[in-house]
Amino acid sequence: MFDSYLENTLRFHDEKCVSCLRCTEVCPHGVFVQIDDRIICAHSTRCMECGACALNCPAQAIEVKSGVGCAWAMISAARAGRDMDEGECCCGGERGSCCE
Ligand code: SF4
Ligand code: SF4
Repeated sequence: MFDSYLENTLRFHDEKCVSCLRCTEVCPHGVFVQIDDRIICAHSTRCMECGACALNCPAQAIEVKSGVGCAWAMISAARAGRDMDEGECCCGGERGSCCE
């Protein structure tokens, strides 16, 4: 059975990665990290499937099925009993983020 706390649709093809660092810059949850001159998918279970990394990767090294909007904003709104539009995302909507 699919367990969303342990699994998600994020797939990293490290053989395609050109170490441009964009995924480390745009991911609001620090899923990708740089170790020496390599990028690794260090915290895949943190992924909320916003799609920002795949959208910004110039080497198509990342796949993720996104499309639900910002999951963090949805959760935040649900916890506060508000509409999705009133949810707050922790990424702050900075340039290149999922909320840009
Ligand atoms: S889909 Fe979003 S949360 Fe998941 S790794 Fe990519 S940028 Fe990070
Ligand atoms: S954005 Fe793509 S090519 Fe750039 S470091 Fe991340 S996975 Fe590698």
